Amino acid sequence: MPTSTSELSPYCIAQQQVDRAAVFLPGLERALIDSLKRTFRVLTVEFPVAMDDGRTRTFTGYRALHSSVRGPGKGGVRYHPDVTADEIRALALWMSCKCAVIDVPFGGAKGGVACNPKELSKDELRRLTRRYIAELGHNIGPYTDVPAPDVGTDEETMGWIYDTYQMMHPGTNSFPVVTGKPLDLGGIPGRRDATALGCLLATRRAVERNLVPAMDSLQGARVVIQGFGNAGSAAARLFTQAGAKVIGVSDSTGGILDQGGLDAEAIQQHKRRTGSVVGYPGSRQVTNAELLETPCDVLIPAALESQLRGDNAAGIQARLIVEAANGPTTPAADRVFAEREIPVLPDILANAGGVTVSYFEWMQNLRMEQWDLEDVHQELEERMNRATDAGLDKRQQLSRRPSRSLRAPGGDGQGDFGGQPMPVDLRTAAYVLALSRIGHAAMERGIWP
Ligand code: NAD
Repeated sequence: MPTSTSELSPYCIAQQQVDRAAVFLPGLERALIDSLKRTFRVLTVEFPVAMDDGRTRTFTGYRALHSSVRGPGKGGVRYHPDVTADEIRALALWMSCKCAVIDVPFGGAKGGVACNPKELSKDELRRLTRRYIAELGHNIGPYTDVPAPDVGTDEETMGWIYDTYQMMHPGTNSFPVVTGKPLDLGGIPGRRDATALGCLLATRRAVERNLVPAMDSLQGARVVIQGFGNAGSAAARLFTQAGAKVIGVSDSTGGILDQGGLDAEAIQQHKRRTGSVVGYPGSRQVTNAELLETPCDVLIPAALESQLRGDNAAGIQARLIVEAANGPTTPAADRVFAEREIPVLPDILANAGGVTVSYFEWMQNLRMEQWDLEDVHQELEERMNRATDAGLDKRQQLSRRPSRSLRAPGGDGQGDFGGQPMPVDLRTAAYVLALSRIGHAAMERGIWP
């Protein structure tokens, strides 16, 4: 199947996903849906950073606020060379929907700086972070827009964000301005693994509820993970602990396979030593394309957007896809998976564990408390189970009900499915849940003035 340019634009994809769900939301005015496809605010900041060699480089950063009708904006900060305003807009829209699906009182936001963190020293990264946050100024804040980690950023980055904001707002409690902080700086236990643990909990719940034919537990399930960063490496460890067998992992340098099972901790050490998962003793090296097409029970994309597309979806040999990454599957691939009856646990549900524990951290910081790990895990499990159940139930309900029109108003062409409407997938069900919650909150508030 050809891969069109529009298929590869994350913002376009996010808007198509909204359109597809809108078909099932006759109670929401079309104009309201159209406004939810836009971003409330996108800031672009261009700022100089003093480099270690004495020269000065100018970087471009963004912060998008998609919606704050349900609460302050919430969303990670990405450091990656390919960051663009449109990518950040898409990620902010997905955050709004994710917060609504998991039902935490946040809107959606996202930020990023176009840079390659691997080529910057720690001092350069710290100066870049401080200047980026200073440029955003009052546009972030504990009650307005709360950043968190994403690709290329981590706890240390969040610590610098907190410190910069605190220096600009002395005499106030600035801990809740950012989540994913180090434990010594108002962080919460369990945040580092929260995204992956949320993926595991959602997967376990969905499997127990027979989402995948002839699969009722993760015991012995063969798992392949694309991306071995914050989310992917923790997923490898946690799925193994849950009884699954991780047979393949990859990072930006390539992939490795071992049908006997890979040791996530040992690969982590190998990556720390060599900078790559490739070359891990006893494993077979494969390309990222080959890794994605490896026969397995659960495929977990945990890297970047648009990895499963119209041009490679037919080759995927997984029984279930669990989106740890944001936006890894394009609408064209969704159609192929629907046709082949491969269920996809969508990003706005599957990876919501991260923002859920961020919400716990934010509450902990507002109240100046310290949560313990047991409480975090118990609350997270309850919320992931509830959201997974809601998604599965909504899909069943929508599958029984005729839609307002078979073709989505945005004309994404997904209305046709061999002459029939595309079966309701979990992604659409999750968007229907999210947009209904956001849309009704918007209507109850009304338009100001
Ligand atoms: P990270 O930077 O820690 O890790 C990203 C990983 O992907 C790295 O191992 C990198 O080498 C790898 N990668 C990049 N391009 C690749 C490619 N083409 N093929 C294979 N691997 C590739 O980032 P992260 O925080 O783990 O985020 C990963 C995904 O999870 C992103 O989509 C992010 O938005 C999403 N996510 C993260 C969180 C979180 O809390 N960190 C929460 C929700 C969603």
